[in-house]
Amino acid sequence: MPQILNNALDAVGNTPLIRLDKIAVLYGLKCNLLGKVEFMSAGGSVKDRIAKAMIEAAEKEGKLIPGKSVVIEPTSGNTGIGLAMACAIKGYSVIITLPNKMSLEKEAALRALGAEVVRTPTEAAWDSSESHIGVARKLQKEIPYGIILDQYGNVNNPLAHELTTGPEIIEAVKSTPSTSARVSSQKVDAIICGAGTGGTISGISRAIKKTHNKDCIVVGVDPEGSILAIPSSLNTKTEGAAYVVEGIGYDFIPDVLSRNSADIDEWIKTNDNEAFDAVQLLMRNEGLLVGGSSGSALSGTLKWLETRKDIAEKEGLNVVIVLPDGIRNYMSKEWFLNRALHREPTPLAHNIAKI
Ligand code: PMP
Repeated sequence: MPQILNNALDAVGNTPLIRLDKIAVLYGLKCNLLGKVEFMSAGGSVKDRIAKAMIEAAEKEGKLIPGKSVVIEPTSGNTGIGLAMACAIKGYSVIITLPNKMSLEKEAALRALGAEVVRTPTEAAWDSSESHIGVARKLQKEIPYGIILDQYGNVNNPLAHELTTGPEIIEAVKSTPSTSARVSSQKVDAIICGAGTGGTISGISRAIKKTHNKDCIVVGVDPEGSILAIPSSLNTKTEGAAYVVEGIGYDFIPDVLSRNSADIDEWIKTNDNEAFDAVQLLMRNEGLLVGGSSGSALSGTLKWLETRKDIAEKEGLNVVIVLPDGIRNYMSKEWFLNRALHREPTPLAHNIAKI
């Protein structure tokens, strides 16, 4: 029911699950492809949920003092935006340490929300003093009332997804009945999700496997260059290679990423090009203005389904793809502008030129 919300934090999460029918048809899939569209959350990404959860938990534990506390967090940007939004509302200062490769749009959003932003070298190893994590730790030691909520180790990160993202997906799938045109198992049969901290995939997996469908197949998506995929032989060929997509992949294993094969059944690697092409596919066919890691999730899904004809060809099975943020974060990036502005002229453009 529509109602007046108290503030923007009440508009975090509760995002739609949207059918990707045209892409399914294009790829000859009989199963249902469903996108969990997280850019529709108040701060524009899946990470709003954990920012809100970590702030609220720290408040409950008496760790935050309005007007005094300085929340310091190393992030690829989206957790920072969620934290800056929460802190703007609640009256805490914020410093975000952000690797150089992350977009100017994220820095602008952070600064607009009142945060300070410290850029760090992308190539610095996670445990070096120059990395976004190292610099955050150094700042926390020096700044009075500085506190790192630590999304890489904070149980409220996966828990936020176990309590919100997962149940929202389950509820949407359970409560949408089959019709003669659209058959549905009314279960989440597979879910594909990229991993950065791994909080999203670990939390959603627990929600689904514990309360809904223990046989749901959970597939992690990891960019070439990162080392999160299991078995590690998947990573060796490309380990350490630079990649442009933001928010997924790391050079260390975050504590909140479940390594339990009961939580994450399979992993698939993706590269920049296929991810960015898949972003275009989502925009042009489904009208969804998603970001780069959403393209990774979709291209990972399409590759995975090629190996799983038993799922791809079965009418009614529900394959859910987590689409973590929106194109707003990447409007100035070359990969986006190249595809959006410098694309082949359409027949319509030829007609316009003749008028
Ligand atoms: N995509 C984007 C754009 C992100 O910002 C993040 C968060 N780093 C992720 C995916 C991955 O989410 P998680 O940290 O929960 O694994």
